[in-house]
Amino acid sequence: MKVRKPQMTNKIKRIDSSADPYLFSDDMNGVAVCKKCQSVYHNKRWSIDEDLYKSKIKEMNIKSIQCPACKKAKDNFPGGILKLNGSFLQEHISEIMNLIRNEEQRAMGFNPLERIMDISTTKKGLEITTTNEKLTQRIGKSIQRAYQGKVAYKWSNDPKLLRAEWER
Ligand SMILES: [Zn+2]
Repeated sequence: MKVRKPQMTNKIKRIDSSADPYLFSDDMNGVAVCKKCQSVYHNKRWSIDEDLYKSKIKEMNIKSIQCPACKKAKDNFPGGILKLNGSFLQEHISEIMNLIRNEEQRAMGFNPLERIMDISTTKKGLEITTTNEKLTQRIGKSIQRAYQGKVAYKWSNDPKLLRAEWER
């Protein structure tokens, strides 16, 4: 009796509605650099490392692409939007901006794709857009920890987006 060989199946693509469409699939191999922010993709992750960038950019066949964070910024496709309002904010705006920038630096230390895309002034205060929802949440939490006030989070799934609002 002949034993049937198992059929070769194509790799089943994971369908995950919460997946970030800007991230690369697992099968993206090799090394690439983003010339805009000088982050380097290798070992299946992005990192920001000046020396690594300088050495990789000299390689002959290095792929130059836009990293997911720069692509999101270009397309204006935020993962999080944080609004800050109130008179306390107006009085402490430079301190609060420092705190926001510190949170961004910290987040980029873990994951260079977590960044602030834009900070703009609105009628009532500030609006900060970030590349991913975690950074919006982190900034909201740390502002509340430092300055109290009220913070509210609203999630939507399609596309994955966190809207947060802080007021004091
Ligand atoms: Zn980039």
